[in-house]
Amino acid sequence: MLTLHGLTIKRFHDGLLNKEFSAFEITKEFFDYIQDKDKEIGAYLSLHKDEALSEASKVDVAFAEGENLPALAGVPLAIKDNILIEGLPATAASKMLKNYKAAYDATVISKLKSTQAVFLGKTNMDEFAMGSSTENSAFQKTKNPHDLERVPGGSSGGSAAAVAAHMAIAALGTDTGGSIREPASFCGVVGLKPTYGAVSRYGAIAMASSLDQIGPITKTVEDAAILFDIIRGKDDFDATSADHDYGEKLPDPELRDIKKLTIGLPKEYFIGGLAKEVQDGVSHAINSLKSLGLNFKEISLPHTKYALSAYYIIMPAEVSSNLARYDGIRYSRNVNSKTLSEIYFKNKGQGFGEEVRRRIMLGAYVLSSGYYDAYYAKAQKVRRLIKEDFDNVFNEVDVILGPVTPTPAFKIGEKTKDPLSMYLSDIFTIPVNLAGLPAISIPVRTIPHTPKRASPSGFSPDPKPSLPIGFQLIGRPFHEADILGIGQYYERITT
Ligand code: GLN
Repeated sequence: MLTLHGLTIKRFHDGLLNKEFSAFEITKEFFDYIQDKDKEIGAYLSLHKDEALSEASKVDVAFAEGENLPALAGVPLAIKDNILIEGLPATAASKMLKNYKAAYDATVISKLKSTQAVFLGKTNMDEFAMGSSTENSAFQKTKNPHDLERVPGGSSGGSAAAVAAHMAIAALGTDTGGSIREPASFCGVVGLKPTYGAVSRYGAIAMASSLDQIGPITKTVEDAAILFDIIRGKDDFDATSADHDYGEKLPDPELRDIKKLTIGLPKEYFIGGLAKEVQDGVSHAINSLKSLGLNFKEISLPHTKYALSAYYIIMPAEVSSNLARYDGIRYSRNVNSKTLSEIYFKNKGQGFGEEVRRRIMLGAYVLSSGYYDAYYAKAQKVRRLIKEDFDNVFNEVDVILGPVTPTPAFKIGEKTKDPLSMYLSDIFTIPVNLAGLPAISIPVRTIPHTPKRASPSGFSPDPKPSLPIGFQLIGRPFHEADILGIGQYYERITT
């Protein structure tokens, strides 16, 4: 049996070129493994074995014929079920889209197809990406591979769990308020939320369009950089995508003077209420980076405390207008109703789950005449203040470091009865979406204990957390290279 553990994009590509295995063999091995393992985890909503094996064979044939293989050729990926792949289901984990098959490819998928990547299947998520635990899926629960009694995070919980449980080499997720970074942190993998506009949203099922971004979930920061490089870029099909010149490729961290970067520690992100494991884990990452000579500075983001409130006005407002299109007539929900209003009542009532209905109602309320100025217009002003907080600190520091979530993965069912406590899981991730910045969640790891790298005082060499803990790096708009660079640097010196 081939080993799928530890198989990264880089390692797979090298193995393929060295003829250690074929793309077909690895893809087949993934399906054999998933068949068994996913009974326990529940990461996938649908698997597409025939299509995947046929794509993998094409890669093997191309290689045998002497073609140069792109870095992603034959790489088995998992795709969140709100990203369209032509001809395959795209349910967004909602009954509303249960029978829907995508009519076209999302731009990110066309880009991945052109590099000959292989799609294993579509992954579970919170319905329409609303949630932080994947428990809002209309179809199944996904378990955290590190502890089956705990949630994998959400909303991209299926993608994060699939990568963490070695059921895909890497995955795509979407992040509106933390949905890539929070599950990555809970599952001990890397999650990158790109700058707003860096990656086309065409073909991603919209939740809140001014906040949504597609991004990679991977085992290493290096892999996140490889995937980001492929999926980014201006797209005529998404007017909000940006024409930013990143250069040919993101700079290699080896070539950049990472140590010249200053890292800011926002005092508002290190407050009471942070679980001890998170506090310890993040301190451990800070100490590792300090011991490598990176400079740190305390900073302040004074409007942080208003971010959650502003998000829970702006996001539902956009949700209520985006989800108005699910009228029960389009997207193949069949109903036998006589009148239009009966169609609406039946479909919206039965097709949407509780959390989705709650947000549509909240959104309709904050946009209604008489309340618009008091809620929506005010929240937009707060959003601006949050953005300005970041603009100000980026005059002093290059990158910001903080926790991803206040706690490690929580127990299944622990927060389902209390939406507010669920919403609080995103307190450190939401400001980034409101400001449109790039951010990455990286698992805390330990530095190998060698005499050469003596620990500074207070440095605990091995906290051995029982559950994964992530730390977050936030960058200036379109400066993914800074956070990916520091991340790769960190990754090289830790185990
Ligand atoms: N958990 C947040 C929410 O429920 C963020 C979701 C997301 O990023 N898609 O809205």
